[in-house]
Amino acid sequence: MDMTIPVNLDSLLKQVTGFDEFRAGQEEVIRSVIRGRDTIAVLPTGAGKSLCYQLPVHALGGTVLIVSPLLSLMEDQVAQLKMQGEKRVAALNSFLAPKERAEVLANLGSYRFLFTSPEMLVQPHISKRIKQLRIAYIVADEAHCISQWGFDFRPDYLRMRDWLGNMEDRPPVLALTATASEKAIRDIADYLLMEQPELFIHTPDRPNIAMELIRLSGREEKTEWLLDHLSQWKGPGIIYVQSRKRAEELAGLLRSRQIVAAAFHAGMEGEDRILVQQQFLNGELEWICATNAFGMGINKPDIRWIVHDHLPSSAAQYIQEIGRSGRDGRQSLATLLYSEGDADTAAFIATDDLPEPETVHFIGKCVAEGMDIREAGERAGLSETALRVVSYWMDRLGTEQAAIQMDRLADTKREEIFSMVRFAEGAGCLRSRALGLFGYSPTVRPALCCSECGLDSSRILIGRTAARNSSGLLGWRERINSLFVVSGEE
Ligand code: ADP
Ligand code: MG
Repeated sequence: MDMTIPVNLDSLLKQVTGFDEFRAGQEEVIRSVIRGRDTIAVLPTGAGKSLCYQLPVHALGGTVLIVSPLLSLMEDQVAQLKMQGEKRVAALNSFLAPKERAEVLANLGSYRFLFTSPEMLVQPHISKRIKQLRIAYIVADEAHCISQWGFDFRPDYLRMRDWLGNMEDRPPVLALTATASEKAIRDIADYLLMEQPELFIHTPDRPNIAMELIRLSGREEKTEWLLDHLSQWKGPGIIYVQSRKRAEELAGLLRSRQIVAAAFHAGMEGEDRILVQQQFLNGELEWICATNAFGMGINKPDIRWIVHDHLPSSAAQYIQEIGRSGRDGRQSLATLLYSEGDADTAAFIATDDLPEPETVHFIGKCVAEGMDIREAGERAGLSETALRVVSYWMDRLGTEQAAIQMDRLADTKREEIFSMVRFAEGAGCLRSRALGLFGYSPTVRPALCCSECGLDSSRILIGRTAARNSSGLLGWRERINSLFVVSGEE
């Protein structure tokens, strides 16, 4: 690659996207990718990370391979690119009908942007085809998933290491995320086989998101609170819940109050999920009651309110989820409903699917006696996911060490939940506490900061009955903002 290509990035930006200037962080990342460097970019939610992978290919030519964690996210990103007028874009995933998939595979070389999942990527027949392409660079979008999911849920994220290692002439890799702890950055660099990556790390702080923590006695009181407050104040918003059942329950209760709401969880059919997401993006649904399967990377600018009905399982999860609000730069609110038993439930759910060390031993014994690992998994009563995880670690480490690894993974999960408990039970400014989990402090002290700093959320929320709520919320600034979408506020 010619590293000296003179690229006028400003005119490229204008030409490709119509935007006049870069937002904080974008230009350095784009330059690094064009120079052919492995790059890790940690920019806050809504900062405009997609642009960092969308632009360099116009200077470099070839295909960009984007590894993305969720089908719904791929669909969203493909749609956004198409809206920009990009025709050479496709997603290769399990959502495609066999005929569509054959078509994408037949035209593989013609795409500028090719999205896929880690699971699809490492399948031998797909992998072979992809490796024949002229890949300009590889992108791991939402790269914290490597660390968050790779070890105990989606081991194909970790298999990307070998996949990259087996490439003859590995193209540069760009990792994008809004939340990366030191460990996550190490995992990203390690499993994406990066060589002396350029690091661009920005604070995850989002000053336009006010935070509140409401202590309640338990599920029933939370339900009451939600029905009461959501009847009074408007979304659009997302309620994050612990279980599929709770998602359905709350969506039903809201609908019975004439609030347009739907559930979203991994137990739904792929098509239904895409439909619900689309309706929410189009403004046809006011509330989504979702498990953590919803919303990653989704670009709906005007989400005003995120409510957590449960304790998120990690700091990264929490910051990611509240970061889905206020992407238009306008004021929004994040409410955490907390009750004492939440930590136990969270710990139970987080470790529920992880196999016990004894189960790993049992499977090891069966396999040693010549049984197929699938059958052994079935006999041990393992879920599909758990079996994938066990197979990965048994391959890597052998039975003994894989069993120990299961314990370690469970400990890590519990520690993460513990840090969330410390956050919820601690004292002082909520924003400082949340950022502290990542080793940051607030960049500014916003006037509407958090419930510990005297926040009155009725100054933020819009009432359902009045056209504007009585506190006269929409001052001149907000009115102007609602006429012209203000960008670049991070
Ligand atoms: P994230 O960092 O969360 O991935 P996205 O890439 O989805 O954020 O971008 C959020 C929004 O910001 C999108 O609507 C995108 O079009 C817009 N955006 C990105 N870069 C710019 C820019 N330089 N100028 C104006 N808007 C931008
Ligand atoms: Mg994104």
